[in-house]
Amino acid sequence: MKSVVIIGCGAAGMMAALAAAREGAQTTVLEMGRKPGRKLLLTGNSRCNLTTLDPDLCSRYQSLGDSSCSSFVRTVYEGFSVRDTLQLFEDCGLLTMTEHGSWVYPVTGRSESVLGVLLRELRRLKVRMKYNVEVTQISRQDGMWQVQTEGWSYPCDSVVIACGSRAVPSTGSNGSGYELCRGLGLDVTDILPALTAVSCRLEREDCLPYTPGMSTQSAAGGKKGGSAAPDPLALAAGTRASAAVSVYTDGVLTASERGQVQFTQTGISGIVVFNMSRYTVRALHEGKDVRIQLDLLPDVPLEKLTETLLRLHNLRPEDSMRDLLTGILAPGLIPLFENEPDCRRTAERIKALELQALGHRDFDNCQVCAGGVRLTELYPRTMECVRSDLRGIHIAGELVDVDGPCGGYNLQWAWASGYVAGRHAAM
Ligand SMILES: Cc1cc2nc3c(=O)[nH]c(=O)nc-3n(C[C@H](O)[C@H](O)[C@H](O)COP(=O)(O)OP(=O)(O)OC[C@H]3O[C@@H](n4cnc5c(N)ncnc54)[C@H](O)[C@@H]3O)c2cc1C
Repeated sequence: MKSVVIIGCGAAGMMAALAAAREGAQTTVLEMGRKPGRKLLLTGNSRCNLTTLDPDLCSRYQSLGDSSCSSFVRTVYEGFSVRDTLQLFEDCGLLTMTEHGSWVYPVTGRSESVLGVLLRELRRLKVRMKYNVEVTQISRQDGMWQVQTEGWSYPCDSVVIACGSRAVPSTGSNGSGYELCRGLGLDVTDILPALTAVSCRLEREDCLPYTPGMSTQSAAGGKKGGSAAPDPLALAAGTRASAAVSVYTDGVLTASERGQVQFTQTGISGIVVFNMSRYTVRALHEGKDVRIQLDLLPDVPLEKLTETLLRLHNLRPEDSMRDLLTGILAPGLIPLFENEPDCRRTAERIKALELQALGHRDFDNCQVCAGGVRLTELYPRTMECVRSDLRGIHIAGELVDVDGPCGGYNLQWAWASGYVAGRHAAM
């Protein structure tokens, strides 16, 4: 019987343990926290959007260090697909439901239910669970892998490293997995926050230069050489609006998506902004100029909007722009345009409000990280390391340089890469 040690009891680690135990391996999970699945419990506003029914899901992933990310993910999903995820959870006794056509949640609306059925299955399969043990090193001795913690060493045939990223370190993912991998000589890319809010300004001349790692507060809290005038964008803070969001990097359209934008004191947030942040953060990190364009009335053509404003203005020449916009924009957005005297110009700005991206939130305030163990270090069919001296070392979950948008993509990656890694670690 093969012995497998899984490092980390998050989504990927639990799935790896389940797969290894199903293959008949003696399976041990080492988790440095006091409890399993702390991040899993936070997912989907504690409702857990556990996978996606998007038929084109592979194309939605990206990696920081490798352009062939989609084909890597596709190969992993040939080993464990969305259908396999749904079947596995159904077999474990979890009933699911779908929202917005593709977002899958447990019918209970509680992430605890997802964690609960996984732990029940791991108990049934007699997986050994050890909590409060932080793995500090992995080494090779006498033909076995030695997984070392403070005060103990676990010898085994194979290891699955599933320590997560640096996103929300209070859940346990403090970046120590990257150090374990570097300790084995694996190539790890830069690590950046992804799926996070973006700080930005309306007026170009008010903008501070971007400094990597800058917090939202510092990004929007001051102006060169003196006290800051509040950015007009802050006037919209607290407003939510349906918009089409486009990101331009050094003047080139990089990504666009429609959804609900939330205006904050320092910039913009919301699912669509999180998804766009995957491009924004990376471009800012590379020192590029990033503009975010908002079409605040995506269903109204520019001509129709211009014609409406001109008509209203002709009917009521004494009305201010604020009055003219009453039936056109959400009240919270009107202050952004009320000082504009020209109807045509107002219509153009509503259809293409240009913001300059200044920074982003930190690792405490992002949902996932971009970057990780380089894809060229791993076989996608097994998630095992390519290097011959690292045979038996498998890597899964967010620790790998793969990240997806909001909507169940990241958990699907954790389940699939975990399952494939655990299964092959046990073979
Ligand atoms: C607020 C929030 C909401 C989210 N919502 C969704 C959602 O609805 N749908 C979705 O698809 N994705 C969502 N995500 C992303 C998703 O949760 C993660 O991508 C996924 O949980 C990553 O799983 P993982 O197992 O790779 O890492 P983690 O869940 O981070 O697990 C890693 C585990 O390893 C342990 N560990 C780390 N280092 C060591 C060590 N040296 N020794 C021992 N143990 C160690 C940690 O304590 C941790 O328990 C969300 C993320 C956040 C933060």
